[in-house]
Amino acid sequence: MWVEDWAPRAACRSTQPDQLFVKGAEQNKAKQVCGSCPVQAECLAEALDNQIEWGVWGGMTERERRALLRRKPDASWRAVLETARKTATTATAVVPVQA
Ligand code: SF4
Repeated sequence: MWVEDWAPRAACRSTQPDQLFVKGAEQNKAKQVCGSCPVQAECLAEALDNQIEWGVWGGMTERERRALLRRKPDASWRAVLETARKTATTATAVVPVQA
């Protein structure tokens, strides 16, 4: 389920904001906090759909987001990510668990 009010659930909510707005290679270190974030897709969609240029959002660096935007400049990233989440959830639900 897509979370509209995602910011209060952000894994980085107790992080100093400056830690996510570092430059260059430091961004790869900064985005580690995103790996456990329950609203990573929502955060990424916000950044991509609003073409936010600075900082780490949704587990992606500025450079990584620019690459995605170049590949699909007219995409609704919320639609893309919401569909991907639903597909993944459905696939998980039908795959039998092996003992
Ligand atoms: S994905 Fe990363 S930057 Fe976005 S809310 Fe979660 S922890 Fe913060």
